[in-house]
Amino acid sequence: AKENGKNTYNFYDLSMNDSLFERVQLENELRKALDRGEFFLVYQPQVELASGKVVGVEALIRWQHSSKGLISPAEFIPLAEETGMIVAIGEWALRTACTLARRWSQTEVGPLRMSVNLSSRQFVSPDFAESVERVVRETGMPPELLDLEITESMTMDVSRSIETLRQLKTLGVSISIDDFGTGYSSLSYLKSFPVDRLKIDQSFVRQMHSETKDRSIVATIISLAHNLNLQVVAEGVETASQSEFLAQQGCDEMQGYYISKPLKAFDVEEFIIRKSAS
Ligand code: C2E
Ligand code: CA
Ligand code: CA
Ligand code: CA
Repeated sequence: AKENGKNTYNFYDLSMNDSLFERVQLENELRKALDRGEFFLVYQPQVELASGKVVGVEALIRWQHSSKGLISPAEFIPLAEETGMIVAIGEWALRTACTLARRWSQTEVGPLRMSVNLSSRQFVSPDFAESVERVVRETGMPPELLDLEITESMTMDVSRSIETLRQLKTLGVSISIDDFGTGYSSLSYLKSFPVDRLKIDQSFVRQMHSETKDRSIVATIISLAHNLNLQVVAEGVETASQSEFLAQQGCDEMQGYYISKPLKAFDVEEFIIRKSAS
């Protein structure tokens, strides 16, 4: 379960203690974590390949458990999904991210696109678009700076998904398809989905140097996106040669350890101010 390697080396490993007792206990603690303020967000910069500028960040949730330390979202998001707690946790994450984006837009950091991950349980909840509207209104977040990341697997109910996406687009927010290429959606309904951006899954980016097939897949996703008038972001970029290949292929943006790990808000500010001074 730890194929993410250095990305998760300092997270608590839930699977080692995966007894029913541990699970039930963790579920109870997850229930209290929101009230106890144990969640926080980190933000990973996204850079425009043509200019080298930071144009956005992706908000990623972290759980600072009182005794177990840092727990990875890969461990607790599935649990939060199963129990339905993801709806409240997801709304907290959205509100926190929007509050920060609004603050940044009024400081020297400047307006940055803020991408927030959605879970399917949130996306299919009947009043989801209204809850986004409320958060945008209450935080004063410029809606055009908000980007919602969905995955292909969340859009199984096609007509309902299209309806929800339309409602969200009406608010002025943008939609990205996360982990693109790993789901089961057919190209025909990509055509009918009102989305703005594709994020190429890091599994394709990781092997580009050694696998001809991965290079072809990445190049094909980039031209597919552009032919559909969509922006394209490559994830998991770790090396200069990956970045060069993506630039050659005309990829719009990249995100990954090559640019920066996910950072606390303050460190993002410092990163951007330092970058614009150099
Ligand atoms: P994701 O949305 O695909 O996020 C990208 C993951 O890749 C993040 O892991 C990020 O830290 C990691 N990453 C970024 N650059 C690199 C790189 O260059 N190399 C490698 N090896 N990894 C990189 P993280 O933060 O552990 O998040 C894991 C997953 O948990 C996310 O995958 C997303 O599906 C979910 N998640 C995170 N935050 C939230 C949230 O607020 N709500 C929901 N529903 N899901 C979330
Ligand atoms: Ca994501
Ligand atoms: Ca992803
Ligand atoms: Ca993922």
